[in-house]
Amino acid sequence: MTDLVTEAVNSEVPSFSTLGLAPELLRSLTDSGYTTPTPIQLQAIPVALAGGDLMAGAQTGTGKTAAFALPLLQKLLPLANSSTSPAKHPVRALILTPTRELAIQVEESVKAYAKHTQLRSLVVYGGVDIRTQTPHLKTGIEVLVATPGRLLDHIEQKTLQLGQVQMLVLDEADRMLDMGFMPDLRRILALLPKQRQNLMFSATFSNEIKKLADEFLTKPQLIEVARSNATNDNVTQKVYQVAQSDKEALLIQLLKQADAKQVIIFTKTKITASRLSRSLIKEGIIADAIHGDKTQQERIKALDAFKAGTVTALVATDVAARGLDISELPMVINYEIPSAPEDYVHRIGRTGRAGALGVAISFVSDDEEKYLIEIEKLIKRQIPKETVALDKPAARSRTTHAKTATHSKTSYQDKAQDAAPTRRPAKQKSSDPWFDKPYEPTSQPPQNDVTRTFSGKKKPVAALLGGLPASK
Ligand code: AMP
Repeated sequence: MTDLVTEAVNSEVPSFSTLGLAPELLRSLTDSGYTTPTPIQLQAIPVALAGGDLMAGAQTGTGKTAAFALPLLQKLLPLANSSTSPAKHPVRALILTPTRELAIQVEESVKAYAKHTQLRSLVVYGGVDIRTQTPHLKTGIEVLVATPGRLLDHIEQKTLQLGQVQMLVLDEADRMLDMGFMPDLRRILALLPKQRQNLMFSATFSNEIKKLADEFLTKPQLIEVARSNATNDNVTQKVYQVAQSDKEALLIQLLKQADAKQVIIFTKTKITASRLSRSLIKEGIIADAIHGDKTQQERIKALDAFKAGTVTALVATDVAARGLDISELPMVINYEIPSAPEDYVHRIGRTGRAGALGVAISFVSDDEEKYLIEIEKLIKRQIPKETVALDKPAARSRTTHAKTATHSKTSYQDKAQDAAPTRRPAKQKSSDPWFDKPYEPTSQPPQNDVTRTFSGKKKPVAALLGGLPASK
């Protein structure tokens, strides 16, 4: 994004109209508030409009959805019509995504970009009654966004014909492979006409992805807007070294101190996600959990509330790590870092999207050091480690976390010390009355606009969130 800005200042400002997009699409882009194409859009749109296959390496938040949706809609424009006959609206473009959430978001974008056209779109995904989707399919739609399993269900039930598909998009192809969708993909692709355009998007370029491209794409043009496996430069990353047993107290303290408005907290398991969300609620933090055991309705409800700002903290497993697009999400916290390093990239990609700044904080216990090493190898950089000491307010002993309240201040300055049997003597009571105040979710930030670091020093809130250079 920074490169794009520099480029724009130095040369002619790139615009959507110079990419040759139709007036109907330009109008919807103006409605969406887009003024300048992102780098992936600048590169991918001309290639896709020219009709060639594309293999694009673009991480989440780069504007990749518009990069494939706009040329796709433009190519279908000559076929748009107002007929009420379903036969006049066969599926002509198929967009496959790994998760329901991503499918929903992609289709929302397609709908927004197509709003001044007569092209119709629909999303189908598992976890909801298939019969609710069938009537919509039967009315006829040109652009279908689907998760692979549910698409195959519809094909089996003969509620869907794919004989006229001329464009295929594989979105987050690496994730589809990770999730074991390869057999489903093979089955689906065998049902599509051979003569078609294929656009493949992937955040990472593994050997498996290259194999997939060899199998399904024809002489694809390779586009990469950022170094593969890189993380977004807009995201300030930090590691807090903390014992597993102290993570919950640290999280609560951090959320309260930062007066955080919208934070996604990632856990490894569904059980931890649910438990943590309950603990946050007990502390007065408006939280909800989103994971694979929740029904689709519950997931959508939680996500909508989070997007609307009525839920402050969304505790999620990796099922939610892909595709979620929450504009200007300021903060992601990895309560537990993922064992698969790629998941780290996807998780922190929830913040710092489309040029906005974000902070990604990872709580790392001794046991998780090995995963951190793998993550740093993948992203080819060291994540700054912060020295934190946890002030545990006396109030915490009133909660169910009496275990963590037995030692009120733990230093993580030295991991060896953390592992050692002796700890600093426990304080009887929090020395800072601020922590004993009841939490007020809608209150203004603390009047003096300072908060404490975990070592007790004062730093501006913005610095804690990575927004200001940390003072030495
Ligand atoms: P994506 O990577 O497709 O999930 O897009 C990330 C976010 O960027 C979404 O909220 C898009 O609406 C937004 N976006 C995409 N393209 C642009 C653009 N050219 N200008 C501003 N925002 C954009």
